[in-house]
Amino acid sequence: MSGFFGVASKDSCIFDLYFGIDYHSHLGTRRAGIATYGKDTGFKKSIHNISNSPFRTKFENDLDKFEGNYGIGCISDYEAQPILVRSHHGAYAISTISKINNAEQLVEEVLKGRTHFFQMSTGEINPTELVAALINQKDNFIEGIQYALDVIDGSLSLLIVSDKGIYAARDKYGRTPVIIGKKEDAYCATFESFAFLNLGYTLEKELGPGEIVVFNENQCRTLVDPNKEMKICTFLWVYYGYPSATYEGINVEDMRYNCGKLLARRDKEKEIHIDVVAGVPDSGTAHAVGYANESGIPFSRPFIKYTPTWPRSFMPTIQTKRNLIAKMKLIPVHELIAGKSLLLIDDSIVRGTQLRETTEFLYESGAKEVHIRPACPPLLFGCKYLNFSRSTSELELIARRVINELEGYEVTDKALLQEYANPDSEKYEAMIEGIRQKLKFTSLRYHRLDDMLDSVGIDHCKLCTYCWDGNE
Ligand code: SF4
Repeated sequence: MSGFFGVASKDSCIFDLYFGIDYHSHLGTRRAGIATYGKDTGFKKSIHNISNSPFRTKFENDLDKFEGNYGIGCISDYEAQPILVRSHHGAYAISTISKINNAEQLVEEVLKGRTHFFQMSTGEINPTELVAALINQKDNFIEGIQYALDVIDGSLSLLIVSDKGIYAARDKYGRTPVIIGKKEDAYCATFESFAFLNLGYTLEKELGPGEIVVFNENQCRTLVDPNKEMKICTFLWVYYGYPSATYEGINVEDMRYNCGKLLARRDKEKEIHIDVVAGVPDSGTAHAVGYANESGIPFSRPFIKYTPTWPRSFMPTIQTKRNLIAKMKLIPVHELIAGKSLLLIDDSIVRGTQLRETTEFLYESGAKEVHIRPACPPLLFGCKYLNFSRSTSELELIARRVINELEGYEVTDKALLQEYANPDSEKYEAMIEGIRQKLKFTSLRYHRLDDMLDSVGIDHCKLCTYCWDGNE
């Protein structure tokens, strides 16, 4: 995932920009960048690798070099951005949140015009550069942005800073959010709604799917009205969003309490004895609070995350070390574990490796039973719409591995996979039992899709559910 922030201000935008971008640090661990524009100073840009050091540390020495009253910046989990572009639209800087499944085909189309791209060391074209090239195919920014939103298969939201102000556009199905904030002498655009609150902005509006606006320090104008159809990513509430974020009027922490509440209601029908409810930090904790409040079973923290020297952005690239680091961050509290039946809530189960290790670690610390309640249904399909750092090949998903074992071959038939997604089917029961045995849980019950969508509380048809049920 990635996040961005942009400011158009009467005076210097640098302070707001610096802290506004920093509040997106939970959305990416690889690169960050800032681009500013001032009438007298033109464009300035800086990009840093943030894989081993947080955004603020990396950029604090650059701050003096930035000038101007317009600026954008991002935390990126993938490509280096923002990029500076000189085109028939004039000079501009652009930052994107995208996943472009048809990149090869679009690159070929653009190359017919005998232009060129810079190739990244991976052999791919920087997706933000591709978006800029698509925008440059049309006569003006509005048509260009609309064209890019239309032709990209996947998703695209963007910010552009030019001498005319800042353009902001939200993905045509609204998979990721873009929110506009306002204060006396400035406007801002942000992925995370809370990023502007401590900077003195108030909510102006949340862009609708496909909506395009342009703003400066005085006003924000809609250039293209929103589409009606929406498919916002449900995972934003379940896992990715920061607890203080609000999308479509629904706060993340609040949704997680609801999620835990509905999980607990289903468990009331079962007769299992639980001593304490706990969450896998960080996102599992809020789901567990909701469960504990509804069930009346005490909430507890049987392991604590050691945060002072383990910032989330520190991520070694070698997988074996990543698992080790994930483990070293968690410290058990033996007094809260020994002899207890624990009910543990995690946001989801991807490969299952980490949760199996956590469970083993609880048994080693003396736990009597470990009951697992993921806050979303089994992941059966890889996300086609967003660039997740923890996304994985579909074949690595624990649910898919178990289905393959049950069927005796590598299942790719969507209709069959959808039978496994039905929580009232025998196939679903067999899959859950297979996962439970593999990961050595005492009991395992996933959230039902309908309950999880109810926990968000907006129209189900506005929510993307592809990774659970394969519905596009
Ligand atoms: S497939 Fe899943 S992760 Fe991807 S956008 Fe849809 S809900 Fe989000």
